[in-house]
Amino acid sequence: MSILNGLDEASRASLGLEMHGFAANLFPICRSITGNGIRQTLGHIKAQISLNTFDVPSGKRVFDWTVPKEWNIRDAYIADPAGKRVVDFQKCNLHVLNYSVPVNEKMLLSKLKGHLFTIPEHPDWIPYRTSYYKEDWGFCLTHHQMTQLKDGEYGVRIDSTLQDGFLTYGECFLAGRTREEILISCHACHPSLANDNLSGVTVATFLAKHLAGRDLRYSYRFLFIPGTIGAITWLARNREAVERIRHGLVLTCIGDAGGFHYKKSRRGNAEIDRAAAHVLRHCGEEAKILEFSPYGYDERQYCSPGFNLPVGCLMRSVWGTFPEYHTSADNLEFIRPLKLADSLRVCAAILDVLENNRCYRNELPYGEPQLGRRGLYGGEAGGEEIMARLWVLNLSDGHHTLLDIAEQSGIVFSRICAAAELLCEKGLLSVASDDQLKSTV
Ligand code: ZN
Repeated sequence: MSILNGLDEASRASLGLEMHGFAANLFPICRSITGNGIRQTLGHIKAQISLNTFDVPSGKRVFDWTVPKEWNIRDAYIADPAGKRVVDFQKCNLHVLNYSVPVNEKMLLSKLKGHLFTIPEHPDWIPYRTSYYKEDWGFCLTHHQMTQLKDGEYGVRIDSTLQDGFLTYGECFLAGRTREEILISCHACHPSLANDNLSGVTVATFLAKHLAGRDLRYSYRFLFIPGTIGAITWLARNREAVERIRHGLVLTCIGDAGGFHYKKSRRGNAEIDRAAAHVLRHCGEEAKILEFSPYGYDERQYCSPGFNLPVGCLMRSVWGTFPEYHTSADNLEFIRPLKLADSLRVCAAILDVLENNRCYRNELPYGEPQLGRRGLYGGEAGGEEIMARLWVLNLSDGHHTLLDIAEQSGIVFSRICAAAELLCEKGLLSVASDDQLKSTV
């Protein structure tokens, strides 16, 4: 499973480029929480992994929410008094307030200005704005563009539709040896934004590709959904699957050059929280652990008190803390091929911990077994390989998991796991029953 750990530089680089290329194909699509953009995006994902898509009709009640009308857009522009397009959706889909109702009017600049959004601190960037749940229209433009608009009458056209239709989401299910599930969720509803949206979509897609066809302990469910309403809709429609979720990760903002951030689940000490913290401690990059808070991405829904699922959120730079967030500067240059590849490696390592974390029992617990006689004590005395064996033998009393042992010893999980496998081969260790495992989780 951990083949990603053994990747050499060249393979890492080519994997990164492949991932970045996938994100680049999705980048121009004008996505939203409903409509053809998200469906087209799911089509690209489906070309990589086995994906089922689901359509939920507008008006459907999902807990306290209602599936909104479907939004689609073909064109939008502001034309100056001479009829020249000065703001053009065809050049950048961020130019339109996402979910804008149709408009076809002429109006004075003074009135138009009430519908324009810019970022004065970053005068060359276009902001990303939405109005999903309140019917409105608007344009987002660079501050430079706005300051160049002279008084006069402008032609304003938004060729969009907002009508009954569907909310569409995608699900990739990989069956494992048990029905217990690991949930991987990402939002796929932002238009041309790379880190916030496409990095998560890309890492999740490649993670599913990496796991497909493997002999897996857990079953995996990957969700590609519109933010908030998608997670709420999925939760409302999948009460049975929800019962089987043992661990989960929301992936977002995971392709930029920043260090890792893992936001804990509401439970705070779930196995996923410990597995993520452990992998990040040993990942060789800067990493911080954040406490849970009821804001952020769809972990908010998975961790709502009625569900309280063990779902954390893995990011690089945290949304809202980098200036490029929700602007045109969150583009394909902002996400880096190698960072995408390393994010994938870290995700795979976290899942590796979950897949292999179990309790073992030392078969010779009275005194230390004589390792030298079995060829297990060679090499550097006190070296990490031998220390891993000693830790595993000492703590394998049927109650400590390998993750407990990795945490207590400070030795990386993969090494602890390799030691346990070797000791099993030599007859010094055996797997404790699953019941005992469950009592410790
Ligand atoms: Zn966002």
